[in-house]
Amino acid sequence: MTDAPKTTFADLGLSPDILKSIEQKGFKHPSPIQAGVIPLLLTGNKDIIGQAQTGTGKTAAFALPLLERLDASEKTTQAIILAPTRELAIQVAKEIGSFGVKNSPTVTVVYGGNPMRKEIDALRKSPQIVVGTPGRMQHHIRNKKLRLDKIRYFVLDEADEMLNFGFREEIEEILKMTPPKRRVLLFSATMPRSIMSIVNNYMGDHDLVKVAAKEMTNTNITQKYYCVKNKDKFETLCRIMEDEEHFYAIVFCRTKSDTSHVATQLSAKHLRAEAIHGDVDQHEREKILNRFKAGKTNILVATDVAARGIDVSALNFVINYTLPENYEIYTHRIGRTGRAGNKGTAITFVNGSEVGRLRYFEKNLKVQMQKGTLPSPAEIIKKKKLHLVERIEHIVNNENITALRSMAKELLEEGTAEEIIASLLKDAYAKDFEINEYQVIHEDKSRSGGGAYNGRNRGRGWGRHNSSGFRHRKGGGGFGGRRGGGRPPKGGRTRPNKV
Ligand code: AMP
Repeated sequence: MTDAPKTTFADLGLSPDILKSIEQKGFKHPSPIQAGVIPLLLTGNKDIIGQAQTGTGKTAAFALPLLERLDASEKTTQAIILAPTRELAIQVAKEIGSFGVKNSPTVTVVYGGNPMRKEIDALRKSPQIVVGTPGRMQHHIRNKKLRLDKIRYFVLDEADEMLNFGFREEIEEILKMTPPKRRVLLFSATMPRSIMSIVNNYMGDHDLVKVAAKEMTNTNITQKYYCVKNKDKFETLCRIMEDEEHFYAIVFCRTKSDTSHVATQLSAKHLRAEAIHGDVDQHEREKILNRFKAGKTNILVATDVAARGIDVSALNFVINYTLPENYEIYTHRIGRTGRAGNKGTAITFVNGSEVGRLRYFEKNLKVQMQKGTLPSPAEIIKKKKLHLVERIEHIVNNENITALRSMAKELLEEGTAEEIIASLLKDAYAKDFEINEYQVIHEDKSRSGGGAYNGRNRGRGWGRHNSSGFRHRKGGGGFGGRRGGGRPPKGGRTRPNKV
């Protein structure tokens, strides 16, 4: 049996120039949303609903036809794209720019927090495409800095998120001001009733391109869950990180104070973590995101709002430290990993009473999450030893330790080499290598409230394995950033702090 030949970008009707830039960008085949949307947008004249989440290639699905169809010789704004967050707006503008060929339509981006003067100057040049957040876009329209009379395409990107963030009024006001003949392209991971009212009130005859639920929950993402008591979550997180060679993740929490608390605890273990939430001002937020994108920090502890639009294709983990309120948010969260063809793992922590809700998510998303198994303390210690040996080899081979040699000689006069190294290890790693310092993490078997979502109880219980089961360190030593979980994501190494 042979596979059916895969659709190519050329099959979709794109021009040779654009095909060349797609090739240069490294895209081999169109994603399902691209294969569905691009031909409709290039040839038809109906409005389009694209039901797809971030990470499915939806930006290129609308960007490529816009680049083909807009008139670059006409100095008017012909397309506007609304996005829920600054980061997404910037990312969309960048993605569009990245396909640009000679004489392509120009694109500019507007968003809250960006210097107003700079945006006004850019808008004065009448870019053919303007991407922005609804509030700032509305501001420029009201102040007549952005004219809508020549708009031919109106794109709502992550429409469900924009409505979640309370942008309905802005969206409706802008929509009402666009010419009646413009085509509306609405992209949304989910189609709740609130979206349908936009569709019914502002969209005409439309095509629906839906990425099937199975594909929507990206198959590159392994979904797991751990059922633990709230008090054991942090140690469970540490255990998962300690088991990984590279850990580059967003840890989602429900509240601002949770994010700060978790990030502080991680930092106390010398893990390179930072918190990001609504109270972090724009300037600081950009700095935090830049450090994260550059891999200088490898754990971002975030609230849902703060994490929107973050596109880091190398993220290999998403941790739901707290269970999201609904499965739409769950879908958005886990879509931060497994991007651009990479593999990712989404891990959700639930306590006993939340298992029912998790089952409800599974049912609606048509996925089955694997029950995670924590490594035993002996396994963790073995890995830590291996990582330590690797790091020592790396330092001996690559780093300048000349200045410390005389100190090493002096230390060796204090005892045998074995005693000195053991003492240094004790000092640097506290009790990280001592098996008795790991406590048992039990599965949370309480099921109060679980029935509300008609959940099936598939939990088997970790406690039954054995008493040496899943232990975590008492008190927690300083192992943190000096282990695999603390490594930079792309093969770089973290310099040990103390050894
Ligand atoms: P998006 O869903 O638009 O946020 O895209 C997610 C990521 O996938 C971006 O980094 C895109 O550059 C990348 N991408 C989009 N389409 C393709 C494709 N056909 N092949 C490979 N990567 C793609």
